Amino acid sequence: MPDDFSAPNGRFVSHSPGHWPSVPSADWNDWRWQLKNRITSLDGLEQRIRLTREERAGVLLAGSKLAMSITPHFFNLINPEDPGCPIRRQVVPRIEESQDSPHDMADPCGEDSSMPVPGLVHRYPDRVLFLVTDRCAAYCRYCTRSRVVSGAGEQELVTDFEEAFRYLEKHTEVRDVLLSGGDALLFSDAKLDAVLTRLRAIPHIEFLRIGTRIPIFLPQRITPGLCAVLKKHHPLWMSVHANHPRELTTEVRAALGMLADAGIPLGNQSVLLAGVNDNAATMRDLVHKLLLCRVRPYYLYQCDLIRGSSHLRTPVARGIEIIESLRGFTSGYAVPQFVIDAPGGGGKVPLNPGYVLYHDAEKIVIRNFEGRVFEYPEVQPAVAANHHEAELARV
Ligand SMILES: *Cc1c(COP(=O)(O)O)cnc(C)c1O
Ligand code: SF4
Repeated sequence: MPDDFSAPNGRFVSHSPGHWPSVPSADWNDWRWQLKNRITSLDGLEQRIRLTREERAGVLLAGSKLAMSITPHFFNLINPEDPGCPIRRQVVPRIEESQDSPHDMADPCGEDSSMPVPGLVHRYPDRVLFLVTDRCAAYCRYCTRSRVVSGAGEQELVTDFEEAFRYLEKHTEVRDVLLSGGDALLFSDAKLDAVLTRLRAIPHIEFLRIGTRIPIFLPQRITPGLCAVLKKHHPLWMSVHANHPRELTTEVRAALGMLADAGIPLGNQSVLLAGVNDNAATMRDLVHKLLLCRVRPYYLYQCDLIRGSSHLRTPVARGIEIIESLRGFTSGYAVPQFVIDAPGGGGKVPLNPGYVLYHDAEKIVIRNFEGRVFEYPEVQPAVAANHHEAELARV
């Protein structure tokens, strides 16, 4: 059985082979084997862990909204003894998913209304979000795109690649293209290379990035061949998605190390989730382990108002408290930006602890991480000009 679920902070452990003791390591380490052997059914789950009633009902209902799929690698991180396991809450459906709360929305970030071309979201002036596939290695129960992701919901993602490339060629203001979905790293090396090559042929596109949870769900996918493809298209950055320190296993650390060695700057996007990572100690352990993996914590998201996710949402104040518990107390590189993706399509809005106590034309009064109060005087234009005159008169 998998062991060591209470590994001390900061320790990287492997939970393989866990529930698959007789699988040859050549198969285990093959990403195609991992995909083929994902847990996708009630049977598959119940053969390995005892479900609660809430989970059992959730699994039966998942087929009509967001499919269930869990890679063997990720499944092994579930502590079978703990019904509240933070890994389990992310990927095993629960009955609460079928209960909409009053503010829930199918498309909480208003992406569908900002698509000039199917699959291309152009919200910000100089960058676009390119939804290249609706498939992921595993499905997060709180996915902000659950309306289109996994193929189980009522809406289908239609991406018109040729039309998207033509749009990007015409829109010379776009300098940054973010590939997401779904997960672009599920493409074969050749297909990914073709998409990146096509984007690189557009002269005004300076910056490419990929948003992916594959290094966490399926670290086996990070092969030397994939790294060689990615490396050809620099500058290429990557945002991964880890929420809990247990996700950073020895295999994941090795995969992230290969990406970093390929010269890819790595960031992490976490979603703040009730019962998963909504406390300062867990987040501190996560961000420290990310730095050890050469990943810079980038965003911490307030959970979007996605349908059936209210049991995973936290008070906004919790996120602010967590940032406050990090800032000043640990490396600045370890502190992500807490954001709300404004419901209805306002984009990401940063939320910060209140360090500014008072501010007028003369001064700003601020407090530091320890709560000590300081004043910084504003430059006084009149005084500065007079001083300048006096200096000139002297020469
Ligand atoms: C998040 C997002 C981006 C990228 O935003 P950054 O703050 O630059 O990381 C771009 N477009 C859309 C629609 C997004 O949701
Ligand atoms: S990996 Fe990303 S796109 Fe896929 S289900 Fe999770 S949150 Fe959604």
